[in-house]
Amino acid sequence: MTALPITAETAADDAVEVVRQWVQAEVPTEWRAAAAEGPAALRAARSPADYRRWYPTFARSGLVAPTWRPEHGGLGIGNDVARAIESVLAPLRLTRLNPLGLNNAAAALFSHGTEEQRRRFLPPIVRNEEKWCQLFSEPGAGSDLASLATRAVRDGDQWVISGQKVWTTWADEADFAILLARTDPDQPKHKGITYFLLDMHQPGVEVRPLRQITGEAEFNEVFLDNARVPDAHRVGEVNDGWRVSASTLSSERQMVSGSGSGGMGRLGGSSAERLISLARETGRWDDPVTRDKIMRLWAQEQIRGWTNARVRAALSAGQSPGAASSIGKVHQATLNQQIQDLMVDLLGTAAVAWAATDDPDAMPREVQGMMRSLANGTEGGTTDINKNILGERVLGLPREPDPWKGKPWREIPRS
Ligand SMILES: Cc1cc2nc3c(=O)[nH]c(=O)nc-3n(C[C@H](O)[C@H](O)[C@H](O)COP(=O)(O)OP(=O)(O)OC[C@H]3O[C@@H](n4cnc5c(N)ncnc54)[C@H](O)[C@@H]3O)c2cc1C
Repeated sequence: MTALPITAETAADDAVEVVRQWVQAEVPTEWRAAAAEGPAALRAARSPADYRRWYPTFARSGLVAPTWRPEHGGLGIGNDVARAIESVLAPLRLTRLNPLGLNNAAAALFSHGTEEQRRRFLPPIVRNEEKWCQLFSEPGAGSDLASLATRAVRDGDQWVISGQKVWTTWADEADFAILLARTDPDQPKHKGITYFLLDMHQPGVEVRPLRQITGEAEFNEVFLDNARVPDAHRVGEVNDGWRVSASTLSSERQMVSGSGSGGMGRLGGSSAERLISLARETGRWDDPVTRDKIMRLWAQEQIRGWTNARVRAALSAGQSPGAASSIGKVHQATLNQQIQDLMVDLLGTAAVAWAATDDPDAMPREVQGMMRSLANGTEGGTTDINKNILGERVLGLPREPDPWKGKPWREIPRS
């Protein structure tokens, strides 16, 4: 089957009807039944491997990124119709795979890429045939990303890249990476950086996994030793990569806060809805203090939803959400940690002891979720840094003093 018969001219009601029929015909009956019962039933009915096998059907329909043009893998529809469609899909929890491609790489391609680059890279991102990672952070450049030291030196129509990146999520399975590298060390730190699309499958790229507290190795160190990128895979002008990265970083904040692609209400983390069912399962629902705690978090979730709706409205009106995406990022990090902590509290003793085995799934999901949530205030820019952004750009507070402002990068002391 090819993309659904929905175009920019299709009315919302008609598009919704087409999508309903597609769901009936293409989403397996047992997944639909399980989705109606709730997240736990759906997890039991639909393994990640099943989902990945079925995913090409979703990708072919154009529904993964419906606002993108057909030649980019979407349907070319407006945000209003996309939201109407999403209301049909949301209960089925059809997760978009390849989030760093769909959000981070695509944001840069749309804002600063060439049409040739978009046609080359976006359709395989939608189909999850080329997976992406983000090679930005370095051992000496996280919050102060602009101080990065990975070098790119021009060699004819190619660039030669050497340096070290760290905390690279999913680098071990990525086919391509968005990469920031220094192309002119004599310029001030924000000015001599260029934005590239790097093929991860080449001799100069070595990926080493980093194991985290949950036992998984979700992120990696990446060593680049004379890796090569064709100049045709440079995004934006030489030395203008900092400006290109702004689109990626804002999109990443939206993804983490849940206001990002596809208009999903929540990406990652858990929910007050899950707290309610866990409280019922563990017999704690009758306790008024527990109900009060859950209610407060539920109210915070509504606020988060409205904040994200504001960001989405700005995006659909063609405006940059700018600093507003930092509000959602800070709020979501704190809220998810509070939800995860309460989840563990509800589990009681089951959260502190489980069978001693090498099977990572022996650890209760809630405990895993609580430990993973520790990273929420760091990934995609720390809570401190996002508060700095809000202080400076929303509240108009004075900027942090920088004694090295305007000095060439090579003269600035580095840790
Ligand atoms: C789960 C996870 C996944 C990640 N995935 C990726 C990825 O795929 N690709 C990628 O490139 N990076 C990734 N990162 C890296 C992430 O972007 C950085 O960890 C983050 O930007 C912080 O940098 P840092 O770890 O070097 O901390 P540092 O910058 O060293 O900060 C240390 C502490 O100092 C505080 N601090 C620093 N500067 C200031 C300041 N000016 N004002 C106030 N406080 C300050 C910070 O808030 C933090 O608490 C990931 C991180 C995590 C946790």
